[in-house]
Amino acid sequence: MDVGTIWMDGEFVDWEDAQVHVLTHGLHYGTGVFEGVRSYDTDNGAAIFRWEDHLDRLYQSAKPYGMEIPFDREELTEATLELIEREDLPSCYIRPIAFYGYDMLGLNPGDAPVKVAIAVWPWGAYLGEEALEEGVDVAISSWRKFASSQIPTNAKTTGPYVNSVLASLEAEENGYTEAILLNKEGQVAEGPGENLFLVRDGEIHTPGLAESNLDGITRQTVIDLAEERGYTVHADATISRGELYTADELFFSGTAAEVTPIRSVDDTEIGSGTKGPVTDEIQQAFFDVVESGDRRVHVVHREAEVAAVRRLDRLVGLDQLDGGIVADAEERVRDRVAPLEPLDGLVAEQVAVECDGFVEVRDANCRVIYGHTCPFAPRHQ
Ligand code: PMP
Repeated sequence: MDVGTIWMDGEFVDWEDAQVHVLTHGLHYGTGVFEGVRSYDTDNGAAIFRWEDHLDRLYQSAKPYGMEIPFDREELTEATLELIEREDLPSCYIRPIAFYGYDMLGLNPGDAPVKVAIAVWPWGAYLGEEALEEGVDVAISSWRKFASSQIPTNAKTTGPYVNSVLASLEAEENGYTEAILLNKEGQVAEGPGENLFLVRDGEIHTPGLAESNLDGITRQTVIDLAEERGYTVHADATISRGELYTADELFFSGTAAEVTPIRSVDDTEIGSGTKGPVTDEIQQAFFDVVESGDRRVHVVHREAEVAAVRRLDRLVGLDQLDGGIVADAEERVRDRVAPLEPLDGLVAEQVAVECDGFVEVRDANCRVIYGHTCPFAPRHQ
């Protein structure tokens, strides 16, 4: 992996220094929680898709394990932004992870410290570019998805992913691209790393959250996009195995897999055996949104800007912003920066501010000396 820097426990460290002790609790018992997020290179610059929702899920995932993540949302956001900037990766996959480190190796993590890391790396289409167009061949796994009476299925916990690993290995060994797991009751749950959608008679169905699947952020996006387009979406469906084979269309959704058509299940062709029209429409709508940099979904734009404005406030001694909405922040900065007096050796012309995505302070040689290093903004020349 061609990545130079990883953020670990509050510091940016070189790739080779991002190490943990071999007696790490999370290594022995899988007591970690994590996220998979994507940043897209958009006309507005890098845009992290639904970052706020991923943060929500990360903190929620930690709850059943009594894990207190020792960094707040703003710290994780800033760290991620800076990583994207440092690695120059406006389009990337982002992996935040929190896990119990070493204290003693009893099952109960006790006083084990909670370690946190974030890595970013380039990642193209998870199941392949061709898969996005042609669809994937999948098989029903002989492994069942664990039930939430066994392990919380709404938490994204590292240990239970061995279930997904087994299903993926089996699918690949048998010549399939991906698996579908049934739940304990034998109904359709999801893919090893994807939610599943079924199209029948122009209506869309997806297993409800009680079917042992993860509450996917892409799943919710798909539901919203489909409903906006007038589709009836059954988001609480129970789908039997048999219904898969007779579906008009099937597709996966997920941060990594995005919206990927399924063209066959257990060698049975689904619909026309390629991407169906409803899948095509939803997939197009999905890419339109994620590649748009639309602030309604790429919330981090706003967060980044507000954070930057706050930092600028600190720098220039303005009043602290109260974390209001962006429009407010933007206006305050526009209004207030123009008449800046010399400050800390800087003169007003050296303070370049434009909150519509870009805030920075340059020295007389035009080097950025104070940076809103917001990678979301189009670069100013
Ligand atoms: N199910 C499982 C088991 C997953 O690992 C993922 C990927 N996080 C998903 C569904 C899809 O979730 P999301 O859309 O939030 O990536």
